[in-house]
Amino acid sequence: MDYLPLFRRGLDDLGLALTARQVDQFQCYYEELMDWNQRMNLTAVKDYEGVQVRHFLDSLTAAPYVSDEMESLLDIGAGPGFPGLPLKIAFPRLQLMLVDSVGKKTGFLRHIVEELELSDVEVHTGRAEDLAFHSSARESFDVVVTRGVAVMRVLMELTLPFCRTGGTVMTWKKGELEPEISASLHAMEVLGGRLREVAAVDAEGLRDGRVIVLVDKLKASPEKFPRRPGLPQKRPL
Ligand code: SAH
Repeated sequence: MDYLPLFRRGLDDLGLALTARQVDQFQCYYEELMDWNQRMNLTAVKDYEGVQVRHFLDSLTAAPYVSDEMESLLDIGAGPGFPGLPLKIAFPRLQLMLVDSVGKKTGFLRHIVEELELSDVEVHTGRAEDLAFHSSARESFDVVVTRGVAVMRVLMELTLPFCRTGGTVMTWKKGELEPEISASLHAMEVLGGRLREVAAVDAEGLRDGRVIVLVDKLKASPEKFPRRPGLPQKRPL
């Protein structure tokens, strides 16, 4: 079957080649997402083309920054799994943790992880502000990814504490970003991070001002961060 034609065309732009099994996994992911979406609101993107490009391909635009040394990846606010789950399908050796505070979303995530027969995936229901104080998660991950969760200065507090020194935070963003990034430099510094690059996305269907913001973790985050749930958003650093 010629599954996911738009998606597969875009993969060339990212220098990625997937096996037939991986393409089948993405097709299954699409079908399950649409099926569950009829019963609960998981995504506003409901058409085959949209899911291929704006969910699957968009999630994989970080592929050029995924290196062989990276072993563990955490997705904060994964919702229906983006961008963490497509990255796991494309790079099966990664140990993945998906976090969302909403139980119905993590219910879908647990189902799809089982359906796709993915190993080394943990799904956690809860807030990043609480999970960051679990010793198994804090200062632990090689990569922390996040898309569509908050503005940069808030995200820094929700992501950097999970990143090991030497690791990277990758944030999916779109549009006029200069003010948002400038406003986040203080939070980055306080939490032990430093801006590395604002990398323009160059893939078919996604050349509309999308970027991935890469932040390096230089030193451990102070123990008082993140502050209690809600505070990072309410009173951004
Ligand atoms: N990353 C997905 C979903 C974005 S919607 C995508 O790009 O499609 C934002 C998600 O983040 C929601 O599912 C919400 O429940 C979750 N979220 C927001 N703040 C959070 C927090 N502090 N801890 C954990 N999850 C959070």
